[in-house]
Amino acid sequence: MTHRMRCDACGAVSPRSVDFGRAQDWQLRHAGRHPSHLTYTETLTRPWRARPQDNR
Ligand SMILES: [Zn+2]
Repeated sequence: MTHRMRCDACGAVSPRSVDFGRAQDWQLRHAGRHPSHLTYTETLTRPWRARPQDNR
């Protein structure tokens, strides 16, 4: 599962990372550079793999 943060003010996005701390570091640096950008959306991506042999 990977985490990504998106700034709601300007749409900038962090790199995807399996480590939430990396996404959070990006958010804190972004907020430091842009003090008016106060709200963020976190996106979680959970990969799924279909296994045809399990179809019943
Ligand atoms: Zn921003």
